[in-house]
Amino acid sequence: MPTSARSGGECGALPVAADWYERLPLADGVTLLRERHVLPGVRCNIWHVRGRDRDLLVDSGMGIVALRPEIARLGGRDEILAVATHAHFDHVGGHHEFAHRLAHPAEADVLASPTDRGTVWDLYRDAQYLDALPVAGYRPEAWSLNPAPVTRLIDEGDVVDLGDRHFTVFHMPGHSPGSICLLEAATATLFTGDVVYDGELFDQLWHSDREAYRETMRRLKEIPARTFHCGHNASFGRERLVAIVDAYLARS
Ligand SMILES: [Zn+2]
Ligand SMILES: [Zn+2]
Repeated sequence: MPTSARSGGECGALPVAADWYERLPLADGVTLLRERHVLPGVRCNIWHVRGRDRDLLVDSGMGIVALRPEIARLGGRDEILAVATHAHFDHVGGHHEFAHRLAHPAEADVLASPTDRGTVWDLYRDAQYLDALPVAGYRPEAWSLNPAPVTRLIDEGDVVDLGDRHFTVFHMPGHSPGSICLLEAATATLFTGDVVYDGELFDQLWHSDREAYRETMRRLKEIPARTFHCGHNASFGRERLVAIVDAYLARS
């Protein structure tokens, strides 16, 4: 755990965090970053993947503390392709810091002009979502997204190319209209965003589509991946994927 100091002031104030991001190096040049003081349930997994010519970033958390310097500390390439799996507030807070922003066309309007409803921030803005502050005096309720217009639209079958590594886009609507997954066939790794993770899946948001979600779930089982790096919670393998999908499809 990071060292932290009381912010002072009134009783019950949150402590000030010394180190906002947690960095977990994984296999295949993948690093998981997390905003350690964003509470679980809101905290999104941020994935950094090293490439030969450029690096890949999958989602950017809430971006409460600048993410780009944190990515630079990883020592990768200067050119970073920042993919948004979808435009919910917990996944795109840091995207404006990156020059290359990739997302599905159905998420592009929200990224360019984020609204509380469009990003589903309206469901969370009155909740306590932090257990520490980035700086003394920070007001969690005043957080808002910066516009991050898409610079490259990506859709089914497109390839995100790092030079030596290639990620194929799957359009997987249901949770949101433009949710995507990215498959690296060479390592049998799927980055899933909120399409699937090991936890309660959300298919009742204002722009969710349950019928589309069921079809997406059926497709998930056909994608030749063995490692699933998700938008929230821990990664898992094929057996767990099948169990999660089957449990969803069995729901009435
Ligand atoms: Zn989401
Ligand atoms: Zn999410």
